[in-house]
Amino acid sequence: MTRGAEAGRVRRSGVSEDARPESGDVPLREARIDLGAVRGNVAALRALAAPARLMAVVKADAYGHGAVPVARAAVEAGAEWLGVADLTEAMALREAGVRAPILAWLHAASTDFAPAVAAGVDLGISTLDQLERAGAVGDAVVQLKLDTGLSRNGFPPGEAPAAFARAAELERAGRLRVRGIFSHLSNTSPADDDAQLARFTVLLEAAAAAGLEPELRHLAASEAAAARPDLRFDLVRAGIGLYGLPSVDGQDVRALGLRPVMELAGSIAAVRRVPAGEGVSYGFTHRTERETTLALVPLGYADGVPRAASNRAQVLIGGRRHPVVGRIAMDQFLVDVGDAEVAVGDRVVLWGDAETGAPTTEDWAEWAGTINYEIVARLGARVPRVPVP
Ligand SMILES: *Cc1c(COP(=O)(O)O)cnc(C)c1O
Repeated sequence: MTRGAEAGRVRRSGVSEDARPESGDVPLREARIDLGAVRGNVAALRALAAPARLMAVVKADAYGHGAVPVARAAVEAGAEWLGVADLTEAMALREAGVRAPILAWLHAASTDFAPAVAAGVDLGISTLDQLERAGAVGDAVVQLKLDTGLSRNGFPPGEAPAAFARAAELERAGRLRVRGIFSHLSNTSPADDDAQLARFTVLLEAAAAAGLEPELRHLAASEAAAARPDLRFDLVRAGIGLYGLPSVDGQDVRALGLRPVMELAGSIAAVRRVPAGEGVSYGFTHRTERETTLALVPLGYADGVPRAASNRAQVLIGGRRHPVVGRIAMDQFLVDVGDAEVAVGDRVVLWGDAETGAPTTEDWAEWAGTINYEIVARLGARVPRVPVP
């Protein structure tokens, strides 16, 4: 049976082409990236954090949203800094013509710092070896990363004094400049934040005693930027908030003036009327309970639609929520629309702004047993990011 015939069979229930002006215009799949929302979120975060400055964190392709357009929009809206994990990400922004200050904080033992230094990228420095390599380049601007409790990268408190002493020495010798000192929180509890703050404060004093005068001290990511004014220091590094998404369960981002940036959608690729008792998708984890209409959505786990959300998720079609039934496959999944009148080409929204009635990334995170960060960051390369200016 052709797709047209399938669609036609459903249309006999009375839906005319005229009632569906969007039919046919909808691409197979797309992630709409609302750059107006990025700008609005930057404005809201800056107002919230002031007088601290804002670093827009655009690592991991801007959490799946597309690093270059998001970075440009963020800078345009007043973000003073951009933050990325590694120098490949930083250099991609420079090559795209982004000239704003950038900090990158995760490096391989083999990473050559020279091109990044030449491109004016600040190096986040976590080890003495990295510090020596930065000093060897000459002209490097560094920000020393401290481990105040996350047990990830950064100088642990015991190693920080030696790092401060050596950094001060290299600075006096004109080999590098220490612009900043920073650390990262665990988002565990206010008491854990307090413990990290205490360590950070002691280490800042040690840095001053070693002769360092960093202009940027920073500790807060989105969560502390919103919840803990006392942790904002000179700059806050906002990732998830920049994308209009909550950093913890139940956070009211709308009250903070933030709006979701991404809407993930596709168009129905096939429609089939099936009898009761039919198996649906791999493994028949679902069987139809009654005669119903199944709509095929051309996105799958290769696109970042989590397979763990099979038989749990919902999507929005024609303003109504319908359940995902059966296993989410690599390229596609099925939606049970009951007797709703749907047609090939109809737009299906997987996640977006709750105000539109769409499920949110937090809903998907719950369905898949993960966090909203992972839902957006794992969006697949096959999904075109469509910037909406
Ligand atoms: C990812 C990251 C951030 C951003 O965190 P959000 O919770 O998304 O705001 C900030 N700082 C560092 C060091 C990070 O790795």
